[in-house]
Amino acid sequence: MTDNQTFEGRCTCGEVRYRMTTAPLFVHCCHCRWCQRETGSAFVLNAMIEAERVELLAGTPVVIDTPSNSGKGQKIARCPTCQVALWSNYGGGGDAVRFVRVGTLLEPDRLPPDIHIYTSTKQPWVILPPGTPAVAEFYDLEKYWPAASLERRVALRARRNVTRPA
Ligand SMILES: [Zn+2]
Ligand SMILES: [Zn+2]
Repeated sequence: MTDNQTFEGRCTCGEVRYRMTTAPLFVHCCHCRWCQRETGSAFVLNAMIEAERVELLAGTPVVIDTPSNSGKGQKIARCPTCQVALWSNYGGGGDAVRFVRVGTLLEPDRLPPDIHIYTSTKQPWVILPPGTPAVAEFYDLEKYWPAASLERRVALRARRNVTRPA
């Protein structure tokens, strides 16, 4: 995936609109019980991207403190009117990295998962495609991220003291 692409997204009522100004760092398909509960579905698709690469085009999300599996909590940015969740930040990483909900993009098909995580609690009827990495819990970023994303992560850590995303 090249870096010079943009991706626009919106909530359901259209009050909040945003643009990812580049491709994300990596796309997680998370099958953990927490994501299942928060989405009411079998998994969530999150595109991880530096916060400064997400431009608000309209509206102002409200940020809701929500418990997380790590115990550090997550902040979910939601439309103040329709309450659809647009992205999350996790406690460890502060606001440096956003986990953009791929389903809120206008063209979500453009960002298929780079990895399936927490497959230990995957719904049994979800059949994973061959060729995409899948791990039972979390994973070693150095092992799976492309070199360009690891470089971006180094730059991010240099700017802010970021710990590993939850
Ligand atoms: Zn809305
Ligand atoms: Zn999860």
